Amino acid sequence: MSVPGSLTVVGLGPGPDRWLTPEVADVLANATDLVGYGPYLDRIPQSFHRRHGSDNRVELSRARLALDLAVSGRKVALVSGGDPGVFAMASALFEALESADDPAWAEVPVRVCPGVSAMLAAAARVGAPLGHDFCVLSLSDNLKPWDLVLKRLRLAAEADFVIALYNPISKARPWQLGAALDTLRTMKDAATPVVLARAVGRHDEDVTITTLADCDPTKADMRTLVLIGSSQTRLLPKGGGKGGGKDGDSLGDVWVYTPRSYYSAEVP
Ligand code: SAH
Repeated sequence: MSVPGSLTVVGLGPGPDRWLTPEVADVLANATDLVGYGPYLDRIPQSFHRRHGSDNRVELSRARLALDLAVSGRKVALVSGGDPGVFAMASALFEALESADDPAWAEVPVRVCPGVSAMLAAAARVGAPLGHDFCVLSLSDNLKPWDLVLKRLRLAAEADFVIALYNPISKARPWQLGAALDTLRTMKDAATPVVLARAVGRHDEDVTITTLADCDPTKADMRTLVLIGSSQTRLLPKGGGKGGGKDGDSLGDVWVYTPRSYYSAEVP
């Protein structure tokens, strides 16, 4: 038996509409129903959609609702911020599908459309910090034990990856970023560049370039993406100046970049 509805998982990108792909714009224009976290749905202009906004942290019930709607014949867009596959709704959807609570779900045509993830927008703002090998961690210990977070951080530092941290802090998780930075300070150079990229692409965007030694975790919030350099990540003064002038915790007008090659380490 086939169902006439469909389910497409989309990411809106981290900020403005110009970071929303044309493919996702098409899906949204043709959907009958939008399902997602309320503030994300608020970013989509009013249209003929039915909107099914929900709270944060109810991803599985949201995915089930999206599947039920698709089974009933609706053309559903299941909406995430950034990319839907990065700490977002695409995995929640497959968790629901794997649970197979309703056999009809297996008949739903499913598609996942990529979006611009926050780390890519944050990296572009400051230059090219992700230009060599990097790894990505969520600092949230809601869905995994804190010991595992620390283990991964230590191994990432040992392997000299650039590290991108999602979900660095929230009201319920106020101390984790400070603890993560303390762990990294025991393993990495104090001068390692750190970027706190808050609300990238939004009207209240605030990007701070600092060092591991000076990074103040209270400057981050739940809309902040944290980038921590590798041993090769460096600062390049903008406009050929000497740069390095400090403005509070921020290192001033510099690019942050990681060269493509370890062998160029000595090249000025
Ligand atoms: N799927 C999303 C990530 C969801 S997890 C993506 O691909 O971007 C939520 C985390 O993403 C936040 O805690 C924050 O770390 C990061 N984030 C989302 N939007 C952001 C933005 N505009 N600026 C900086 N970080 C952002």
